[in-house]
Amino acid sequence: MSSVTTLSQLVQDPNLDETLKIIAKKVAGGERISAEEGVYLYEHGELAYLGILANYIREQKHGDNTYFNRNFHIEPTNLCVYDCKFCSYSRLLKQRDEGWEMSVDAMIETLKKYDDEPVTEVHITGGVVPKQNLDFYAEFFRRAKAHRPELHIKALTPVEYFYIFKKAKLSHYEGMKYLKEAGLDSMPGGGAEIFHPEVREKIAHDKCNAEQWLDIHKQAHSLGMRSNATMLYGHIEAFWHRIDHMERLRQLQDETGGFQAFIPLKFRNQNNQMENVPEVSVIEDLRNYAIARIYLDNFEHIKAYWAMISRETAQLSLNFGVDDIDGTLDDTTKIYSMAGAEEQTPAMSTRDLANLIKQVNRRPIERDTLYNVVTDYSDYVFDDEPKPQYYKLPVIN
Ligand code: SF4
Repeated sequence: MSSVTTLSQLVQDPNLDETLKIIAKKVAGGERISAEEGVYLYEHGELAYLGILANYIREQKHGDNTYFNRNFHIEPTNLCVYDCKFCSYSRLLKQRDEGWEMSVDAMIETLKKYDDEPVTEVHITGGVVPKQNLDFYAEFFRRAKAHRPELHIKALTPVEYFYIFKKAKLSHYEGMKYLKEAGLDSMPGGGAEIFHPEVREKIAHDKCNAEQWLDIHKQAHSLGMRSNATMLYGHIEAFWHRIDHMERLRQLQDETGGFQAFIPLKFRNQNNQMENVPEVSVIEDLRNYAIARIYLDNFEHIKAYWAMISRETAQLSLNFGVDDIDGTLDDTTKIYSMAGAEEQTPAMSTRDLANLIKQVNRRPIERDTLYNVVTDYSDYVFDDEPKPQYYKLPVIN
């Protein structure tokens, strides 16, 4: 395997396992792989093999382009009516003294702090509390749009929406339509965890189920909104649960085409009720990105959160199917750090992020939420960047 460097060499390798060869041929021919083949990849695909397949697809779709955006986060509350076992972030309502709950005014004040910043997106997510209901979010979206109309609002997940719409006695479609009219632009991918009930009931038993999660995305897509999808992996699930999860997403994507990016999220075991469950290795993280890239042929983007997995793993992931490493978070999210993520105070300037991508010979592209190119940083010289200096080399005659 170690001498194999390209997909065309790989498919001719006489020593390669037959099923892996069939899968490699399918990838080379742009064919979709089956669920059984997906599980086979998890069970038998070595890192180098998976990397060749995933990188081939990544480069077919995006070349060296590696996307990021400039965004900031608002987390309206860390209190939550739900009790997900893996959650390091929320405080149940009974632990109210350890939590925060923002008013609409406070959220607008936070938004205004970025008035002079060239950000294109605000990402809003947090816990679920009764007071932050339909009227609360509709008011926030309207005021945010009135204040800064061009700022893209990417907000909440089906976990919040399912709760909010149920209380407001609205169907998923009616609720999404109402909030879209108030100013909501798109949805992030959270709350998906692992769809299969065998796992979901153990780790997230009381929030929306797979069908409800998928239906809310479907209704959003039917209204012309785009969204993302996540998968929380590396805890008590089996490989086939991951494939089942991706299969449900692939089917909905065939129907609507509304998903933009798939984001595998690594389970972290600090400060939660699953501290006894060991975390998976970086090798498994990379294998998982690669298999997601291979399996989800109808998803344009595979995204890794650099703050969650470390800058070095984010760089490596670009060779395993990932083409997006999220944004220049400005230390405005606590979701990752509270779970024991690599970055405890996640902040990276645009220059740092562009350099991180360039260091591994990829092309840094700042995008907006909908993947329109904002700036190509390949040859960009930053104002505050020291200009290259040239020295005469000693000449030996
Ligand atoms: S993961 Fe989300 S829904 Fe679950 S407890 Fe945490 S904040 Fe609440």
